[in-house]
Amino acid sequence: MNSNRAVKRIGLLTSGGDAPGMNAAIRAVVRACMYYKIEAVGIYRGYDGLIANDMKTLDSRSVASIIHRGGTILKSARSMEFKTPEGRIKAAENCRMAGIDALVIIGGDGTFRGGLVFQQEHGIPVVGLPGTIDNDLNGTDFTIGYDTAVNTAAHAIDKIRDTASSHNRLFFIEVMGRDSGQIAMRASIAAGAEATMIPERPMNVDELIHILEKGAGRKKSSSLVVVAEGGKPGHSIDLAKEVTDRFEYYDTKVTILGHLLRGGSPTVSDRVLASRLGVVAVEYLLKGISGGMIGIVNNRINFTPFAEATGNVSNFDDEMLRIASILSV
Ligand code: ADP
Repeated sequence: MNSNRAVKRIGLLTSGGDAPGMNAAIRAVVRACMYYKIEAVGIYRGYDGLIANDMKTLDSRSVASIIHRGGTILKSARSMEFKTPEGRIKAAENCRMAGIDALVIIGGDGTFRGGLVFQQEHGIPVVGLPGTIDNDLNGTDFTIGYDTAVNTAAHAIDKIRDTASSHNRLFFIEVMGRDSGQIAMRASIAAGAEATMIPERPMNVDELIHILEKGAGRKKSSSLVVVAEGGKPGHSIDLAKEVTDRFEYYDTKVTILGHLLRGGSPTVSDRVLASRLGVVAVEYLLKGISGGMIGIVNNRINFTPFAEATGNVSNFDDEMLRIASILSV
């Protein structure tokens, strides 16, 4: 959407699942506002805070020393009330009372769906930044938080490899990734796992056992299987049980990394990504462009309307699966 109304006060919030690098994005948005001599208002607890009028003006010093910190200083939330028209009316009234004439929302697909309907209903320009560890949005090569989550997963898997090979064990390591195997796939290649189970390319137990048997035939001292949570946290426990019943070569263990992947200091890649996107988000609003997500594709800034960013996500790269299977022999 293009709008010619001058933007003087930008509200910003983090929403949905938190991701490392959200703080770097907050800092970039606030500092870009200072640079362009407009005001920045931090809204706490995502859309819930917008409805409850929980906000505070931010300046350069409010965001000092946060670029390296995980989590989000603005807190995050999932808001049921914002899904109702009445909740969004309250949110729009609070924006008007606070003089907020545009919003930067940092979150995932749910956050963008909310931003889209809010802009359509109330005419307040909204720009989104991809803040999710899942890397499951169209219109950006990487989302803020993904690189950190993958690094955390790979380092954890390295540690598990040490103990697994000391005991001739088969480990199932479950990583987050709602409907998305991207964290699992990349961490699996980085840590040299034997197999990867992802929702995009389902593998049945027979196929998995076949891979493990081949490894056992080559006298591998351990085997690591990285399993994407895929919307069913804990399902690797059942999977491990099924495999143990049919394949006795290894002693089998399960480690669920869970929320560990959301924490920690963001990597350099995530900090730089968040910094670039935060500045450009403010510049787009000042140019009168809104209604979509700012991402980076092939190292270039890319604007994607919200409906497209959250639509059928088709960014799974089969090349990764091919590389993983060649290297796991
Ligand atoms: P994420 O942004 O990480 O995908 P969620 O899916 O929980 O996280 O979405 C964050 C919030 O966005 C929700 O709690 C809700 O307040 C809002 N939201 C999600 N979908 C919609 C929708 N269709 N309409 C309005 N608000 C929505």
